[in-house]
Formats: sequence, structure tokens, C-alpha cells
Amino acid sequence: MPANFKAELVGCFGQPVAENPTGAMQEAAFRALGLNWRYLTVEVPPEKLRDAILGVRAFGMRGLNLTIPHKVAVIEHLDRVAPDAAIIGAVNTVRREGDRLIGENTDGKGFLRAVRTAAGVDPRNRRVVVLGAGGAARAILTELALAGAADLLVVNRSAGRGEAVAAELAAKTKACIRFHLWRGVYAVGDDTDVLVNATSIGLYPDVDSMPPVDFRAAHPGMLVCDVVFNPPETPFLAAARKQGLPTLDGLGMLVYQGVIGFELWTGQKPLEAVMTQALRQALGLPG
Ligand code: NDP
Repeated sequence: MPANFKAELVGCFGQPVAENPTGAMQEAAFRALGLNWRYLTVEVPPEKLRDAILGVRAFGMRGLNLTIPHKVAVIEHLDRVAPDAAIIGAVNTVRREGDRLIGENTDGKGFLRAVRTAAGVDPRNRRVVVLGAGGAARAILTELALAGAADLLVVNRSAGRGEAVAAELAAKTKACIRFHLWRGVYAVGDDTDVLVNATSIGLYPDVDSMPPVDFRAAHPGMLVCDVVFNPPETPFLAAARKQGLPTLDGLGMLVYQGVIGFELWTGQKPLEAVMTQALRQALGLPG
């Protein structure tokens, strides 16, 4: 076979982007499968995004991740957006189809895969409460709705954003999505199957904060999930575990959105354990 020194390129565009650990996880996965692929973590300011996407096309890059502030702005530079990403209104992953760049959103799909794989819960017909109505919540709500969750409740402190997200996603997915204004402590009912913290409460450096939620009435099987991954051990999850409830941390969502990205780009299945270990190492967490 003739020598082939050409590397395939993927990467992440964002600003700031230096602390994004995804590259460490993807490069470990490429190495583990002997793939000559590189993941470039690139600082791209908003006014250069158009040029940067032209660069993706010129270099024949195989795919991309987008992070703050490009997840919405990138859409106008792509050839097509997947239906769920169009509903979410944001793209965090781009894949190639020939010369065309297709926008995807793997955040909610990653969450769903973590719920199914790591927690062993099928969201179909489940009643789910989602705290927050930002980008992460939108992605999670959309994928839960498309996966057949029976009832979704958006609990948010800002009425405008919460109401708009619930109404818009309900109209687009035809799922039952309601809004509850978050004032004081939110008391979880005994009919909730899955509770998700999709706010940024607990995110570094605010590590001692916890969403004001009372889950004393929850049924013993209610799965409590946190999207915060830095740190993955949050006071919210600790309180849930103290009450004997099963929990799922934000690392699972982060790993699985990367796993799905890897599959979309390479067409191969990565070694999930390798990705998890690389991510934990990159975040300075014990293996
Ligand atoms: P946004 O800024 O878009 O949304 C933040 C949400 O949190 C809003 O609904 C906001 O409410 C709510 N919120 C923030 N602070 C408070 C507070 N003190 N009390 C009540 N509500 C609050 O952020 P994202 O959705 O992009 O990110 C949310 C979290 O998800 C972050 O921690 C991020 O790191 C994490 N994330 C994790 C991923 C993973 O793979 N694990 C992937 C993507 C994100 P309001 O509308 O009232 O302002």
C-alpha cells in the first residue's frame, strides 16, 4: 500500500475555547482506533466565523464542533441543518456529506444516550421535569420530546424565556410541554420519573450552590440528572444520593455527545471507556 501521511481534520471553533476539553477526548479516541485524525481547538471571534467556515471547506475538514458564541450564528453558513437541530435552533456539531456541511446538535442526544446507557432509563412515556430554559435545556427537551416522553415540565425563574421555550417546543414537537414559574423552592411531585438540572447552578466557580429544589416527596426510583460537568460531583446530586435516589452526572452527557460526533464524522464506533478516561484526565479528575 502506498504511504499516506495525510491527516483528516476535525475541530472546535469558539471564543473563549482554550479550556474546552473535547479535543483531549476525541484525539484519545482516534489514537485508540489507529486513525490518523486530528482535532484542532481553534479560537474564532464572531466576525471571523464566515471565513473560518470557508476554511473548513477549503481544508476539506471532516467535521466540527461549535461552542460559545457560534452555535446559532453558524447556521447561516451551512448547507443543511438536521431536523432536531432546527427545532433546537442551535448547532454544536457539523458533519460532511460530500461537499455539503450539515448541522447537527448532539447535546440533547448525548444526554439521552447517557440516560439510556449509563442510567438504564428509557425516556419513552416518562414524566420529566427540566430546571432551566437555556441552550442545554432546549436541546434536552427537544430530544426527550422526540423520544416520546409523556410529559415535560420546564421550570425556570424567568417567565418570558421559560414560557417561550415550552410553547415553541410543544408546537414544533407536538409533545406535552408545560411551563412552571420557579419562585422560591420547587417541590418535586411523586409522579416525576426524571429530574434534570439544566441550569448553570453548581458550575465552577459556583461549586457550593444548588438549585432550590425539594425532592422529599419524590418516588424512590426518580432519576436525578445534572448537566453541570465541572465539577461532575455537585451538591444537587449529593443531596439526591443522600435521599437514596439514583443519579447521573454531566460527564455522561459530555462523553456521549462526543461519542455521537465521532460516529457522525468517522462512521466508526469509538471506545467509550477511552473517551471517558481521557476526559476525566483532561479535567483533572481521578480516573
Ligand atoms: P444558558 O445560559 O443558555 O442557560 C442557563 C439557564 O440556567 C437559564 O434557564 C437560567 O435561567 C438558569 N439559571 C442560571 N442561574 C440560575 C439561578 N441562580 N437560579 C435559577 N436559574 C438559573 O446556559 P446553557 O443552557 O448553555 O448551559 C447550562 C449548563 O449546562 C451549564 O452549566 C453548561 O456547562 C452545561 N452544559 C453541559 C453540557 C454537557 O455536555 N454536560 C453541554 C452543554 C451545557 P434564566 O432563564 O432565568 O436566566
